[in-house]
Amino acid sequence: MKVPKILILGAGYGGLMTAKGLQKHLRPGEAEVTLVNQNSYHYITTKLHEPAAGTSHHDHARLSILSVIHPHRVNFIQDQVTSINTETKEVTLKDQSEPLSYDYLVIGLGSAPETFGIKGLLENAFFIRSIDSVRMIREHMEYMFSRYAEEKKDELITIVVGGAGFTGIEYVGELVDRMPELCREYDIPLEKVRIVNVEAAPTVLPGFDSDLVSYATDYLKNKGVEFHINTPIAECTHEGVILKGGEEIKAATVVWTGGVRGNKIVEDAGIETMRGRVKVDGQLRAPGHEEIFIIGDSSLVFPSENERPYPPTAQIATQQGQFLGKNLVSLIRDGKMDTFAYHAKGTVASLGRKEAIGIVGKNSKLMGMKASLMKKIIELRWLYLLGGISLVLRKGKF
Ligand code: FAD
Ligand code: NAD
Repeated sequence: MKVPKILILGAGYGGLMTAKGLQKHLRPGEAEVTLVNQNSYHYITTKLHEPAAGTSHHDHARLSILSVIHPHRVNFIQDQVTSINTETKEVTLKDQSEPLSYDYLVIGLGSAPETFGIKGLLENAFFIRSIDSVRMIREHMEYMFSRYAEEKKDELITIVVGGAGFTGIEYVGELVDRMPELCREYDIPLEKVRIVNVEAAPTVLPGFDSDLVSYATDYLKNKGVEFHINTPIAECTHEGVILKGGEEIKAATVVWTGGVRGNKIVEDAGIETMRGRVKVDGQLRAPGHEEIFIIGDSSLVFPSENERPYPPTAQIATQQGQFLGKNLVSLIRDGKMDTFAYHAKGTVASLGRKEAIGIVGKNSKLMGMKASLMKKIIELRWLYLLGGISLVLRKGKF
């Protein structure tokens, strides 16, 4: 009998969890599972704001895929996916002459920055999206600080963060922690540094609990962060940003955290998308493609017809991966599948190493050290899910 081929694209929260599930639940020889990822490591996206600010080394935000995947159960290929052909059921990789064929395809390729066509952003701003991209931010920022000693231009020590969603706020929190050390290193008076967070909406963290938003903004303002709310960035140049209305903020470092969209490879495959994301059915399948499952940031899951979709988070990507790891086994064995149900457990956002805000469970608000501890527990849980207690002990950081 022909063994079905399951091909998983992307070793992020969704893809890696699917691979782990299949590795656990499939009997040997029941299916051929292949995982493709462009790096040999999984990056812990939820921690990328730390190395981007330089508060931790980027190695703390990544782990080797082969340290959590058994190569005799899941075939791992390090390569870049370049295209998906849904007609021939084949996936093309950058460095392999032969495409990979599949019976079932799991797409977990994550997201890309949403720039809304804002002029100059792609060319002049930095993005918190991968180990490579955050390494560049840190090194660029440090180089700008080092130049200040000679050139004394204020824009060299001005950092603009575009967007005050969770990524923007978490990054600003890390910057606040990093600045005293960085200023000591380059002999710069701390009060000379400007960290400017620009937000288009009338409030930071639009839609989030107002008490927690006030706590976060008061804390960050006390640390010297300037907020420009209700003022969208209209353009990004090599000298800084221009806000709607014409005001210019000169800054040598601009980091865009203004939102995400689905991976373009999915759109290019001819699968129906909304801002690059695919509205999946109850079994996480793409419309019109019974054998293609989409998870994580590339997928759109609606609580019900008239509601907004769940935001793209590691939390939902992980649950989708856990679900699919079991559901694909059930599909292969007896052709049956369950329906995915998302269980939102809350949202916790860090404001640097010791501060955080969050809502856990139904409506329990946390702030300060307690929230920060909760955030660290959530991060450790991800390590535990991937590699048990030994990975927690090896990679966990308090
Ligand atoms: P990802 O985790 O992004 O993984 C995608 C994988 O696909 C990557 O390994 C990538 O290398 C690979 N890939 C991409 N393109 C290709 C290609 N062409 N070929 C081969 N491989 C490819 N969410 C939370 O729930 N809680 C948080 O605290 C939280 N904090 C965050 C903090 C930051 C700074 C950021 C940026 C996001 C945060 N999020 C958080 C959101 C969360 O990280 C994402 O929703 C989550 O990573 C999505 O998981 P995913 O599996 O879809 O994709
Ligand atoms: P987001 O879409 O949540 O926030 C982007 C922000 O940028 C919004 O507030 C938006 O109003 C603003 N913006 C858009 N255009 C702008 C412009 N021209 N000028 C200024 N501001 C502009 O994006 P994100 O913060 O990157 O988050 C992406 C996803 O990851 C979300 O689902 C989020 O919940 C999740 N996430 C979660 C956590 C956490 O749980 N701790 C942390 C980071 C990200």
